[in-house]
Amino acid sequence: MPAKGKHRRPKFLRLPRSIAVLGTGGAALAMPLMGAVCAHAAAPAAAVPSAVQKITTVSVPGTAAEKTAAKTYVVKAGDTLAKIADRQHVSGGWKKLYADNRAVVGGDPTAIHPGLKLTIEGQGAAQPAASTATQASAAKAAAAGYTLPVEGATIGTGYKVPGSMWSSGYHTGVDFVVPTGTTIRSVAAGTVVSAGWGGAYGNQVVIQHADGRYSQYAHMSALSVAAGQTVTEGQQVGVSGATGNVTGPHLHFEIRTTPDYGSDMDPVAYLRSYGVVVG
Ligand SMILES: [Zn+2]
Repeated sequence: MPAKGKHRRPKFLRLPRSIAVLGTGGAALAMPLMGAVCAHAAAPAAAVPSAVQKITTVSVPGTAAEKTAAKTYVVKAGDTLAKIADRQHVSGGWKKLYADNRAVVGGDPTAIHPGLKLTIEGQGAAQPAASTATQASAAKAAAAGYTLPVEGATIGTGYKVPGSMWSSGYHTGVDFVVPTGTTIRSVAAGTVVSAGWGGAYGNQVVIQHADGRYSQYAHMSALSVAAGQTVTEGQQVGVSGATGNVTGPHLHFEIRTTPDYGSDMDPVAYLRSYGVVVG
């Protein structure tokens, strides 16, 4: 890539000079063109796609070769297609082996003879597939442990939105817009530290998690957990409602550094740090 950049530069520098012979009109046209190219760092931008192309062209045949990696097996005395398929771990068994080698075996699958060369295909194919599955499950594992308190809900009022209706002067959590009766779930495993009436918060639940943070779920119409109880990730803690100081049904959700009001932190950033994307 650096070599490419170096190549390009003289080309651009030569451009105005060669165009200059055409007259001032040509030069005037060429100059802004060059200016625009430099200003937008066209050299790296142009180099990136070509680098990508390069990688693609190199890796694609490599991957293809790996996937279709076929090896040749020389039939020994006493072999049968079934035995070979079994020993060589041919997925699809002897039928697949036969199908792949029908041209050399002929019409009778039992008629193989020592010295016959069979092609055993697709040995490499399983590996890329397996590694993709591993990657997917690893990504899932990374996101596991935390979940949304309500599914598919959008955020009405965000965190730290200023307002006189809040005693702290700002919104200490996020409001998920959900109708009354929506299942509210614990965002992670933990222990319920309080479940009951919370004044302006209405019916609320506060849960302590393994990382020392607390999650709070407020304004619920009904609770389904009690203080002291342990909960699992995604376990229902209640149903949403409009209890306490509200103008309509929603879930008020906070993350705190203590069980108490006033120790709030950004709940969206918190969930994101555990791989849970909100809204
Ligand atoms: Zn709220």
